[in-house]
This record gives sequence, structure tokens and C-alpha cells, in this order.
Amino acid sequence: MRQTKILMAKRTIHRKAQIHRKAQGFRWEGVDELPYKEDDRALFKAITRQVLFSDPDMHAELRYFEMQPGGFSTLERHEHMHAVLILRGRGHCLVGSEVKPIETRDLVTVPPLTWHQFRATEGEPLGFLCMVNATRDKPQTPSAEDLAKLYADAKIAAFLRSEPDSK
Ligand code: MN
Repeated sequence: MRQTKILMAKRTIHRKAQIHRKAQGFRWEGVDELPYKEDDRALFKAITRQVLFSDPDMHAELRYFEMQPGGFSTLERHEHMHAVLILRGRGHCLVGSEVKPIETRDLVTVPPLTWHQFRATEGEPLGFLCMVNATRDKPQTPSAEDLAKLYADAKIAAFLRSEPDSK
């Protein structure tokens, strides 16, 4: 019993009630705006990242990504899933073999090992919440062969060239 109490005290030590007030634009007080990825070998454009919730005991992280008009995330796949809520703007996303228009309040589930990419429309920024496992595998980027397969689909090829959105 005593041991349980000590354990619980240890587990709660780092936890504090916190309110991060909304700030200008899609920012939150006390939350840093970070580069999209530390690994800049992956191709992406005009995108930032804010980690909103991250706690070792929650096993999940909630991040906010925002891309400027015409910006895009990395084309990638991985074992972990994404649960995405579009918070501002619109654009298109590729998930597997589907290219879909997305806009504010749409929800997107990215299943394991599924190619995915988000692209903002030319006219406005695209911002979304993305929930992931706290511990997760490293994203894979497509090989030349994977890319050839993707480009073989006319709709995906147009998406990758930003064509569905450049009109
Ligand atoms: Mn991803």
C-alpha cells in the first residue's frame, strides 16, 4: 500500500494543471513554434510545428502543423497512425491511393504504412492538429520505384505536382 502511494506520487510529480492561452493567429502562449522536422533531408515546404500536448504517461502527442499557401508536408509512410483535424484553411491530402480536398473541421485518419501528404491551397494557410503515438517509428520516404508507382496514377501525379490545387 505504502509503496503504491510512493509510486503514484512519483508518477504525478511532473504533472501540473496548465492552461496555455490562445495567442495571435494559430499560436498558444508558452508553446514554441518549431521547424517542421529536425531531419531536413526530407522534402517539404513552408511548414511549422507546435507540440501542444506531450506527456510520458499519455503515450500520445498532439501537434499543430501549419503550412503557408502552397506549402506541403513530406510524402512519407510509417507504422504509426495519424489522427488529423483540420483547424484552418483548405487544401488536398493524399492518403494511400486517394487524393481528397480537405477543409476546416474535416477529420483524416492515416492508417499504418500508408503513403500520405498534405498540401495547402495557394490562397490561404492550412493548419491541422495531428495526434500520434509518443513513441513511434521513423517515417520512410518513397524510393524511386515507389514514386514511379505513385506517379502512374494520374490523380496522384497531379496532386504531387500541386495541380489539383493550382487552379
Ligand atoms: Mn506522417
